[in-house]
Amino acid sequence: MLRTDIKKKKLFITNNFDRDWVVESSSAAKNCKNYIREIVDTLDLQPNPTKDVIALSIGDPTVYGNLKPSEETVQAVIDVVQSGKYNGYAPCTGYEQARDAVATYLSHDGARFSFQDIILCSGCSSSLEICITALCDEKRNHNLLIPKPGFSIYRTLAETIGIKVKYYNLIAENNWEVDLENLEKQIDCFTAAIILNNPSNPCGSVYSEKHLKEILGIARLHQIPVIADEIYEQIVFSKNKFVSTAALNLDLPILICGGLAKRFLVPGWRLGWIAIHDNSDAFSKNIRKALVSLSQRIIGSNTLIQGALPKILFDTPQIFHDNLINTLETNATMIFKLLKEAKGLLPYMPQGTMYMMVKVYLKRFPFEDISHLVIKLMEEESVFCLPGSCFQTPDFIRIVLTVPENLLREACSRMIHFCNKYCTTT
Ligand SMILES: *Cc1c(COP(=O)(O)O)cnc(C)c1O
Repeated sequence: MLRTDIKKKKLFITNNFDRDWVVESSSAAKNCKNYIREIVDTLDLQPNPTKDVIALSIGDPTVYGNLKPSEETVQAVIDVVQSGKYNGYAPCTGYEQARDAVATYLSHDGARFSFQDIILCSGCSSSLEICITALCDEKRNHNLLIPKPGFSIYRTLAETIGIKVKYYNLIAENNWEVDLENLEKQIDCFTAAIILNNPSNPCGSVYSEKHLKEILGIARLHQIPVIADEIYEQIVFSKNKFVSTAALNLDLPILICGGLAKRFLVPGWRLGWIAIHDNSDAFSKNIRKALVSLSQRIIGSNTLIQGALPKILFDTPQIFHDNLINTLETNATMIFKLLKEAKGLLPYMPQGTMYMMVKVYLKRFPFEDISHLVIKLMEEESVFCLPGSCFQTPDFIRIVLTVPENLLREACSRMIHFCNKYCTTT
């Protein structure tokens, strides 16, 4: 074709716009699925119009307005905005002073970090995404081991980049400890990393030092790096202690993911981090560089929150943290006691976090599956819980502990009424 013809053709196309023009999406986009949304959107949820809806499903602690960040946290951001010093680009891995604050914050119980070990990210989700992308390679047919039940974003992040996930089981009767034999069985020569979530969403479990050593021992034996999602660090109830994987100081490469979202009650502020813990130096040659390269794609995290980070981490008074845990534990204790009275349900008392798992003896109900029960509970009692299928555990429901006490109490009494109506004893 002559140049002039091409020009003519172009004109022709723009003048006669093809209405059937469909742009194809990439395979990354096609493989990217939000599993909670997929399940929830297929539920035909119609609340009972005579009862106010109580959602026990939302994993955002701020939605009901009863849990707020500390005054110190809020003031720190106001000061930073007014200073006018944080409007420009920060280095992709974060300001040194902010990284240094996280390093100091995480250096306790024998764990030691310097600012070079810290990369700031846009929320903990972004930390996880960077870690998974740095370690897992589609071209090498890698797979990623993730917990079941577990947070669905691990699968979403892995599958988007063509990585298969394999599940290892957690044992409900054992405070949701890892089934070590099952974990070891899942490992193969294509396993690129193991994701460990402690304390756990949705289980509410908090692992002992001994159990952590058992899990990490398996990873060490098979030379598999660990991605430790510790976003619920320190949110543990009385008689439990949070032990970071870093505090064990084992000879094993670990990427610890965390952030402000849950403990500081500001999920929307999108400040997360990766802390590199690598006594073995297995990450020194390639992975440290890979993490820095990947952080360059979106130029790091919000600079205002970075500027406020030292004050948020160190000036938030202990009483703020104590109050949050106290509220969560009081709610958990109350729900646990109440739901034990519901026929066909078995609540599992959490050891920390913002969630409780409740087992449903489905065979004793006239419902086909957990989704059917969740729909009926909404239809009759206007109470909504996430079905365990969102976490690969279809005979459970998950309840959030951040809902105000009076609403939780009301929700529980409606659930008891519902279960006692439908549950048969045989
Ligand atoms: C909430 C949550 C995250 C995500 O935290 P963001 O900082 O909001 O991205 C990560 N992991 C688990 C297990 C969570 O529950």
